[in-house]
Amino acid sequence: MRTKARIFFHGTDVPGREQAVLSSAGCGPDVARVSDIEWNGTLSVFVYVTLDVEDPRLALLQKLLLAYKVKWSEDRWDEYTDEEYEAAPLIVVEALGENHVVGGPRFYTEYDLSNACPACGAGMRQTGAYMLDGAGPSMIGLGQFRAVSSYSELIVDQPLAEALARANLSGLSLRSVYAYQPNEAPIELIWKQLWASHTLPPMSPRSTGIDFDSACKTCRRGKIDSTSPVRFAYRAKDLEGAQDVNRMWERFGYVRWNGDLKTAVLWQPYFIVTPKVWRIFRDAGVTGFQWLPIRVVDDE
Ligand SMILES: [Zn+2]
Repeated sequence: MRTKARIFFHGTDVPGREQAVLSSAGCGPDVARVSDIEWNGTLSVFVYVTLDVEDPRLALLQKLLLAYKVKWSEDRWDEYTDEEYEAAPLIVVEALGENHVVGGPRFYTEYDLSNACPACGAGMRQTGAYMLDGAGPSMIGLGQFRAVSSYSELIVDQPLAEALARANLSGLSLRSVYAYQPNEAPIELIWKQLWASHTLPPMSPRSTGIDFDSACKTCRRGKIDSTSPVRFAYRAKDLEGAQDVNRMWERFGYVRWNGDLKTAVLWQPYFIVTPKVWRIFRDAGVTGFQWLPIRVVDDE
């Protein structure tokens, strides 16, 4: 595993422009991307520098930006090798956002709310076919990606659905997906929604990058915030009974919930799968997801 950092700043904030810091820090076009956009007579210069966190140029660049009083933002993530994925007990599937398709409760997908947290909706159970926003612009994602995500639900194209079905994966079934358009009958798509029968117990508090204090005060399960890089950890005993395809217990991210499905925006728990599933997605050339191997920790 290697941890990467991406620094972003505005080139015009640097006296003498971005090369003053980039060349002093030894950041050439192999690691720095500069794009100029002129709009209404104003020039914007976006500078992105991607480096390994062990690379001495990272600290040097930060020092130079501080010296020039340039504000920057920084994002960090872990990159894993195929060998590390193959050796992982389970891998969390996190969508990157570019393949997000709008759907869910606001588009008449039906849910059982009898076990749902009144404050955040965690624990609601989908009972009807998943409905996508057939009239919205995000539907274009279905033509661009082999697999898309919809608030952490996973939806795959027909060949990928067939490959998953042929692999006899434990814990997985595939369900119909419909496109909803106002005043029209919903249209069944050839895409399929992944459905996991097994939910893992809560993760270990030794996971890092997770703000457990942000969790919903009522159920401790929803609305959890995270900072990159996230490293998920599970107790060994909690992995007993894990299937090839599982859901996580926790839910991350933004929630809009007042008990009414027609206005609800709710992120569902991440999928967490065996390397066998990761391999099928990799071989299908699926992009748009971050695959995060879990760590197994001793029972506390
Ligand atoms: Zn809650």
